[in-house]
Amino acid sequence: MVGAGIGGVAAAVALEGCGWQVTVLERAAELGEVGAGISVWPSSVAVLEELGIEGVEKAAVPAGMAGMRRPDGRWVVEAAALGVEIPVMIHRAQLHELITDRFGPGVTVRTGITVTGISQDAAGVTVTAGDESLRAELVVAADGLRSVVRRALHPSHPGPRYSGYTAYRGIADVDLSDGGGETWGRGQRFGFAKLIDGRYYWYATANREAGLASDAGEVARRFGDWHDPIPALLAGTPPEYVLRNDIYDLPLPLVPFVSGRVVLLGDAAHAMTPNLGRGACSAIEDAGALARHLRATEDLATALAAYDAERRPVTAKLVKRSRAIGRLGQVDNRMLCVLRDGLLGLGGTAAGLAGRLSAGLSARRRRVEQSRM
Ligand SMILES: Cc1cc2nc3c(=O)[nH]c(=O)nc-3n(C[C@H](O)[C@H](O)[C@H](O)COP(=O)(O)OP(=O)(O)OC[C@H]3O[C@@H](n4cnc5c(N)ncnc54)[C@H](O)[C@@H]3O)c2cc1C
Repeated sequence: MVGAGIGGVAAAVALEGCGWQVTVLERAAELGEVGAGISVWPSSVAVLEELGIEGVEKAAVPAGMAGMRRPDGRWVVEAAALGVEIPVMIHRAQLHELITDRFGPGVTVRTGITVTGISQDAAGVTVTAGDESLRAELVVAADGLRSVVRRALHPSHPGPRYSGYTAYRGIADVDLSDGGGETWGRGQRFGFAKLIDGRYYWYATANREAGLASDAGEVARRFGDWHDPIPALLAGTPPEYVLRNDIYDLPLPLVPFVSGRVVLLGDAAHAMTPNLGRGACSAIEDAGALARHLRATEDLATALAAYDAERRPVTAKLVKRSRAIGRLGQVDNRMLCVLRDGLLGLGGTAAGLAGRLSAGLSARRRRVEQSRM
């Protein structure tokens, strides 16, 4: 296993459950996850349970009102009107720990080891980490957005593309009565939800160039005058704990996810923008599918081909939908925002129309920009 993010550790549990001896190679010095919340959808909770990972629902809170407000606090649409299912919200570190707690004697973890190359022959796979070489019958690469294994297997794939916006995340120690939800402004969004320990996880996005530096007051400058309780959430978060990530995805679907005895899983295979809150959930569902197909047949090639056939189409759709929602959410033209909010307020069908309208306008803007170059 290359990588011990949520995808890698879930896959390690899945493979051990199928009787494999698993070695997890992780470049970070320690196992763990960042200080943020994460939404876990019912289908992924079910997969975790299938893998014997219990307790997610006990450690999580059903996400509150999943609707959308304007920066002045007026509701545009409430979750019930859209008829959407609701995920549970859990701390990332807690989810990671629930999964790693399930490691049995068949899993060996090596931290502080960076995989640098991979090659294979008919009998197995050689993984290189600096001067060290390791042999395996099967390698699952869960090494994330900038996967070394993906680059080695698919050198001509263009790789990640910047979405045009950055994300901020934090955990606030505040006492609130507000159940949460999302607020969409012009080119900026803010969302929050309660965690089981009473603290609040919040996230925000803003249009800007990739790679710019941030300063401690940036989030407050952008969102400090939005509706309550957003100012309180920001005031309750130590600025040094605010995480910031430029948002990328893999817009060109990778074909295939499997090459010989090497399997790509999670963000390494299908990194998506976080707009649906399904990236880590998809990695968990990849792990579940891999285990199911490995159990169904003795023939490794057949099992891996079935994994590829199941997971590629599902995740390609999620990458596309997630990108489309991001485009809609990050609209910054005043008139388009009024139109978007009006259409979203009318419900599901109109929301689809707003998405297509926004996609059309973005495509037209890209064509105009290209014709100017
Ligand atoms: C702002 C934001 C909010 C999000 N919210 C949600 C959400 O609510 N719900 C959800 O389901 N998803 C969410 N996601 C997506 C989710 O974080 C990712 O999809 C998920 O973490 C991917 O897991 P992974 O294990 O595939 O990859 P990663 O989490 O990227 O793990 C890869 C691991 O591999 C290691 N590694 C990398 N290269 C090497 C190497 N060469 N050698 C050894 N180790 C290596 C890394 O150190 C890392 O530990 C969000 C993402 C962002 C940015």
